[in-house]
Amino acid sequence: MILMRRVYRDYFTEYFLVNSFSINSVDWILMVINISNIAKMPSRFGNFKIQAFQEGIKEHLVIFKEPFGNIPLVRIHSECLTGDALGSLKCDCGEQLELALNNIATLGGMVIYLRQEGRNIGLFNKVNAYALQDNGLNTIEANHRLGFETDERSYEVVEFILEYFNIQKIRLLTNNPLKIESLKKVDIVERWPIVMPSNQYNKGYLQIKKELMGHLL
Ligand SMILES: [Zn+2]
Repeated sequence: MILMRRVYRDYFTEYFLVNSFSINSVDWILMVINISNIAKMPSRFGNFKIQAFQEGIKEHLVIFKEPFGNIPLVRIHSECLTGDALGSLKCDCGEQLELALNNIATLGGMVIYLRQEGRNIGLFNKVNAYALQDNGLNTIEANHRLGFETDERSYEVVEFILEYFNIQKIRLLTNNPLKIESLKKVDIVERWPIVMPSNQYNKGYLQIKKELMGHLL
């Protein structure tokens, strides 16, 4: 695997991750990532820096606080507009994000904020899935009814981001074993659970996460 780099003006750097070369031509390109410059982001949690990683139409964000320490604390958070920004009680995403930002503001590390809304079915489909849940389906059944897998998320770009930051070992804030399994190139030295108290609206959802999706709750 070869990493090719091209810098455009001073605004961003484009990385090509090339799988292999043949004699006559480049075989194929795995992914193209554009990387923004670093900006400061003071917040109510603390003072962070942010950097955007553009993967096709998806614009991910790394929110980080240095120094990272020997083994940085990392949270891989998938976008949930309703939970993260609107205070929805249907899931635990907003609370998990706040806890992660609080921890990272204190201890250093990063939140890798991935733009894969609704377990990567997108906002439009998530709202339709919620409507199905209003009629009694659970989160998995609703996704299947709409023609999606239980979980459509992927984490390849995370390995790219960690490599870019030259991070080989992490302490991962997660309850999701799928995330641990999918990160092959990084050494997860420790798992920090991120368990939130349930409420009357997300109790069933958290139960499904635990019983059918293997989350460690
Ligand atoms: Zn959510």
